Amino acid sequence: MHCPHCNREIHGQGSACTCEPCGKKYSLRFSCEVCGEEPEETVSCGSVSYFCNSCNEPKSRSSMKYEILHEMDAG
Ligand SMILES: [Zn+2]
Ligand SMILES: [Zn+2]
Repeated sequence: MHCPHCNREIHGQGSACTCEPCGKKYSLRFSCEVCGEEPEETVSCGSVSYFCNSCNEPKSRSSMKYEILHEMDAG
């Protein structure tokens, strides 16, 4: 995924990600690339994983579609 401001690659975990060059944080919403449903987000041992209940399979952040909802205020 890419920052809408600087178009550089941004990294993050779960539904939050940060663009380090811009110092901006974004809130993301994922949807299954197959069925379009919103996958279930589960956190275990500090890592976030996704599972699509309608496809009945785990999803990875890189394969799903995503949408940037809004910028989160820094601080
Ligand atoms: Zn940026
Ligand atoms: Zn699905």
